[in-house]
Amino acid sequence: MIDTHCHLGDDYKEVLQRAFSKGVHHVINICIHPSDIERGQKIVKEFPSAPMVAGIHPCHAHEVEANHFEQIVRLAEEKKIVAIGETGLDLHHSKDHLEIQKEFFKKHIELANDLDLALSIHCRNAYNELKEFVEKYPIKRGILHCFAGPKEIARWALDAGFTLSFSGVVTFKNAIEMQMIASTTPLSQLLVETDAPWLAPEPFRGKTNEPSYIPYIVDKVAALQKKPVQVIQEAIYRNAQELFRL
Ligand SMILES: [Zn+2]
Repeated sequence: MIDTHCHLGDDYKEVLQRAFSKGVHHVINICIHPSDIERGQKIVKEFPSAPMVAGIHPCHAHEVEANHFEQIVRLAEEKKIVAIGETGLDLHHSKDHLEIQKEFFKKHIELANDLDLALSIHCRNAYNELKEFVEKYPIKRGILHCFAGPKEIARWALDAGFTLSFSGVVTFKNAIEMQMIASTTPLSQLLVETDAPWLAPEPFRGKTNEPSYIPYIVDKVAALQKKPVQVIQEAIYRNAQELFRL
C-alpha cells in the first residue's frame, strides 16, 4: 500500500516504522516550507521509499520565503522530487490572496508541465475558480489531492484526465457525496492519501493522523467500489508508480 500525500514531521522515524509494519511500503512526503525540504532530504536518504514532493501551499503564497520557489525549481531539475505541489487555490481561510495564489499556481503548472512531472493540487472552497483557471492553463499530469468537490467538478476533472485522491474524510459518516464520487471513480484515476497529520480516518477521527492509517481508507474505497481490497490496492499502486515514477 502507498500513502500518496502526507506531511512528515520530526517524529518521521516512528511514523514510518509504524506505516511499514502495516504494509504501507511507500509514503510520499509533501514539503511546503524550506524547513520541510531540509528534513525531507534527510528522510529520503534514510528511507528511500519516502520520496519528496515540493511546492508552495496556496495558504502561504502571500508570505512566501525568499528563494523558496527557486529552490523547488532546482530540486525538480535535479530530479530530487517526484512531483510538484501542493499548489492551488484556497478561499476557505481568506479571500484576500486569490491573485497571489493564482500567480504561484501558474508558476507551478508551468514547471510541472515543462519537466513532465505530476502536480499535486490543493483546492478548498474554490472549485469553480479552479476549473476556470485550469481551463486557461491546462495541466498535463494533475492530482486533485484530498478531493472534496461536488459531483459536477468530479465529472469535469475526470473528463479532463485528472486523478482524484481521497483522504480519510471518505470514511466519515456524513461524507455522502464524496462516497458516491469515490464509488464511481475509474480505477485508473484513483488514489488514496492520509494528508497526515490532519484528517484522521474513522475510527481515529479527531486524533493525529499518520500514514499507517492508509488501510482504513483503502478498505472504505474498496467497499464503496464493491471490489476486493487487493484490486483497489493494486490499482492505486499502479497509478502512483505511473504518476510519481516510483
Ligand atoms: Zn497536504
